[in-house]
This record gives sequence, C-alpha cells and structure tokens, in this order.
Amino acid sequence: MNFEQFGLSAPIQHAIGMQGYTTPTPIQVKAIPPILEGRDLIGIAQTGTGKTAAFALPVLHRLGLVPPRHQRNVRCLVLTPTRELAAQVADSFKTYGNNQHLRSTVIFGGVGQNPQAQALRTGVDICVACPGRLLDLIQQGLCKLDTVEVLILDEADRMLDMGFLPDIKRIVARVPQKRQTLLFSATMPREIRELASSMLHDPVEVSVTPVSCAAETVDQSVYHVPKGLKQALLTQILKQPGVDRAIVFTRTKHGADKVVKKLGAVGIRAEAIHGNKSQNQRLRALDAFKKGQIRVLVASDIAARGLDIDDITHVINFEIPNEPETYVHRIGRTGRAGASGAAVSLCDGEERGFLRDIERIIRKPVPVLPLPGDLPQLPPEPPGEFRPQRQGFGGGGRRFGGGGHGPSRPHDPHRSGHGNPGRRNSGGGGGQRPSRSNPW
Ligand code: AMP
Repeated sequence: MNFEQFGLSAPIQHAIGMQGYTTPTPIQVKAIPPILEGRDLIGIAQTGTGKTAAFALPVLHRLGLVPPRHQRNVRCLVLTPTRELAAQVADSFKTYGNNQHLRSTVIFGGVGQNPQAQALRTGVDICVACPGRLLDLIQQGLCKLDTVEVLILDEADRMLDMGFLPDIKRIVARVPQKRQTLLFSATMPREIRELASSMLHDPVEVSVTPVSCAAETVDQSVYHVPKGLKQALLTQILKQPGVDRAIVFTRTKHGADKVVKKLGAVGIRAEAIHGNKSQNQRLRALDAFKKGQIRVLVASDIAARGLDIDDITHVINFEIPNEPETYVHRIGRTGRAGASGAAVSLCDGEERGFLRDIERIIRKPVPVLPLPGDLPQLPPEPPGEFRPQRQGFGGGGRRFGGGGHGPSRPHDPHRSGHGNPGRRNSGGGGGQRPSRSNPW
C-alpha cells in the first residue's frame, strides 16, 4: 500500500512527500478510506502509531473540496486532553495542509485568551482545542460551533481520565447533529463506548496493535542517577563488553551533540543524527554505524522514528522521554526479529514521573540496577536530591550488573511529570525531510 492509492489531493500528497513518509502506517491504511467516504469512525490506536495523520490527511482532503468562504467559520473541531497534544495536532494540520489555504488555530488554557479569541474572530477553518478553555470562550460568546462539519475526539480515554467528559458533552451539544465524527482512543473503557454510541452514527471501528509489544521482548533496566553523573555512567556502560552497537537517545538535538562531544573527549567515537543535520550527514552517520565503523549513534527521537538497523545490541536512554510511547519506540530499535537486545535507561530525580508513566504503559516495573562504585564524586547536591547508592558492576550479560536488579528504590511521590512542558519534538515544520520507512 502506498499513499497514492488513497486518492488524496495533490497538495496533500505533496505535503506527505515533504515529510518523507513513504508507506502509510496500519492505522492510516485502515482509517483513511472510510474517513474519506465521510463515515464516522472509532479508531483504537495509541500515540506513536501515526494516528494524527490518519485523521488529519482525509479530513484536510474533504475540507479542501469546498473552497474557503469569505467569512471563515470553524468547519473542523478537534478536542484533545492536553495543550501539548493540541499544539502538536494543530502543527500536524498545518504541516499536512500547508498548501491548502486553510486556517487553523489552537485553543488551550493557562495562557491569555485574547490571541485565541482574536484568531476565532478573524476566522478559522480548523480549531484544535482543550475542552475547558473552549467552553470558556463559548460561554463568553467568542466561539461558535454551529458550522462544524467534522468533530474529532483525540485520546478520548485520556480526556475521560482527566475528568473532561461533562465538558465534552456540553461542547458536543453545540455542534450540529449532521456532521462527521471521529473518535480516537488508546483503550475502550465502558464510558468511552457509551460516549461513542451517543455521538457517532453507524461508525466503522478500526484498531491497531498497541505499541507496547516491543517492551515484552527487550531486556530492560534503569539506573537512578543524578543528572551530573549521567555522562560518566554512559561512558562506563559503553565501555562494557558486549556493547557492540548502541543507540543513545537524548530528548533534544542540542543534547545529542553534547553527548557526542563528551564521548569524543574520552575516546569513544560517536555520531549524532537529528533534525539539524543535513540528509547527507545523517546518511553518512547511519552508513558508518551500519558498517560498524562507529558503534555508537546518538539520536533525538524524531530522527530515530524510521531507523531500521539490524543487530542493535543496546538502546540507552540518556534522557527518559516524557511520552511513554516514545520509550517503547526507542527500545523497539533493539531486539528485532527475535534477536536479544537490552534497553538501559538513565533516570535522574526529575525524570521519575516519566519513568512511572512508562511502567504504567508497559505494565511492569523496569528493573533497577545499582550504580557502579567508581563513578566520579558529585559536587554538593541541592537538598532533597537523591544520593546514589554505589556498587561495582557485576560481570557479563547484556544488562550489566550481572543481571541483578540491585536495590529497587521507591519512586518519588513528589514527581512533576504531569503537565510536562514540551511534549515531544515536533520536528518543526516545512523543510524536506529524508525519506522514512515507517517502523510500524
Ligand atoms: P502520531 O501517532 O500521530 O503521534 O504519529 C507519530 C509519528 O509518526 C509522528 O512523528 C509522525 O510524523 C510520524 N508518522 C506519521 N505517519 C507516518 C508515516 N506514514 N511514515 C512515517 N512516519 C509517520
């Protein structure tokens, strides 16, 4: 299956090409055709499966069939649980609809409402919103939904968890009955089923395998380590026997460059691949990695999405991703096709909440390894910072520490994981990206 077979309009095909997508993901294969036909749809899919494009592409196509009116009104409303997701979904609509002259805006709380009200007054075609602020604006008479043609609920189960169900019902009551409704959810609890049956008309239901599968085959472990010792610990890990081909993940491009530089300073050759590198630089780095000329690749998440390299022995999370699905994608780079693989995470005090989110989605705790005893001393720590317990590396095994899980530490209950800033690297917009085979 390729994207041409959907019959999407030329500007959308062009935007897909610019993103470097070559093959539709399973949720896209299943969801795009019925959405193009105008059917209501329930999509059971997690973040990371390509679900945003699965609804944004066909909806943009349908909106594009009617030329924009002089007086623009909201034609597509997307409801999302968090502002980070709202921003990301709005970005996707902008990216994929780049050449379509459709206007979109994003609406969420925690910031001044004036720019949002102004955008609505000026006129938008697509509105991506968190329920609370949207209701506020509606109640002030600043937003009207009586021209909505397509209503999309994204991450419906998360909206339910966050207590948005009453708000959603009040918003839906203001949207015309005659509309197309799409509901995406990672899980289908009873309340979401009930909501779906009250809101959707004769929906098509599609689902894709949860991304958490990879988590079952990869040997995972975590070190609880202060931020200031991560680089030293990484060096020690990479010097262990058996670490033949490792990908080190950082959250940011800048972080990836810094790690590469510091590894270079201790004699470990590594290359970074991330969005700021040209396609040629990335290809060169990948080639050297595949040929075994370098055994360490340092990557940001966006660059790593389409990586398909065999025999990766270790995935090392230098920073814990703030999206649990990203963790699962990262560790899915190893242990492919029945091979054994190890995923080692370096978790500092501020990342405990992210780790807990990950453990929730993979439905098991990640075994904790004791820190090796010969890490350098840290400068004095601020009060409350976790003091690592040190032990020697045990010998052998992919996972280090001889497979022993070490003293498992309780998780920090005072985490600050939720409401986390900057959800995931959106990769920015626009530029030509290298072709990405999709990992699904
Ligand atoms: P989502 O599940 O919508 O959060 O998407 C996850 C990631 O997959 C995003 O970074 C998208 O840019 C990327 N993506 C979506 N569709 C494709 C595709 N067909 N091929 C490669 N990457 C894709």
